[in-house]
Amino acid sequence: MKLKVMTSRLIEMFRGDGEVGERSRALEGHSALEIIAAGLEAHRERAVVSTAFGAAGLCVLDMAQKAWPEVRSYYIDTGFGFPETSDLAERWVKERGLNLQKVLPVLGAKEQAAQYGDALWASDPDRCCALRKVEPNERALVGATLWIAALRRDEASTRKHTPILSEVKVGGRTILKLCPIAGWDQKEVWRYIHTHNLPYNPLHDRGYPSVGCTHCTRPVEAGEDERAGRWSGKAKTECGLHLTKG
Ligand code: SF4
Repeated sequence: MKLKVMTSRLIEMFRGDGEVGERSRALEGHSALEIIAAGLEAHRERAVVSTAFGAAGLCVLDMAQKAWPEVRSYYIDTGFGFPETSDLAERWVKERGLNLQKVLPVLGAKEQAAQYGDALWASDPDRCCALRKVEPNERALVGATLWIAALRRDEASTRKHTPILSEVKVGGRTILKLCPIAGWDQKEVWRYIHTHNLPYNPLHDRGYPSVGCTHCTRPVEAGEDERAGRWSGKAKTECGLHLTKG
């Protein structure tokens, strides 16, 4: 491991048998970089970072690479993403040497249309996300014991209680989920991106603070929530990846 900033006590938070809520609270107050480094030290190849190449995710990817340049990461290519997002993924692989796995849904876009109708994202977005995001995510996490993600409490009301460390059930197994920047706000994210000169999605400069699939993302108006442009006009606020229960 490249970075040795973590203490053995911090690493034990990722190995210990203690109640996960207590361990999560013990991690509060440590820097995100220390937390990520300790998690990677404890879980090594069985740790993986999920990313959609959103702004916050880039910060987590950068810190994870600083802790361990070969850290594993994955990206779910739903087939309905913006070209700007796939271009950004390519840049991170080529320019920054990111160890990235691209995960595809079982059904291609045409096969999905043939089985479920032309615009499943409009008729049944939960099913569309289940097929194109949730199932591929479960596959990507097979064998992993630590899932690192970039959720933040200030992103949306659905995320305001996000713990740094939790146990979640994925594909019938219980694993640890680490959200090392749960306590960061949007300003901290952008300060980090500019300070570290990270390549980011140009759509963020065109009114898209949160970028998902083309069918389900619109730019936001001034004063709207960061995630207001996702599934706009529908009750849906989450794709389901992060609704896994402990
Ligand atoms: S975000 Fe929209 S298009 Fe993408 S998988 Fe979910 S429902 Fe389908």
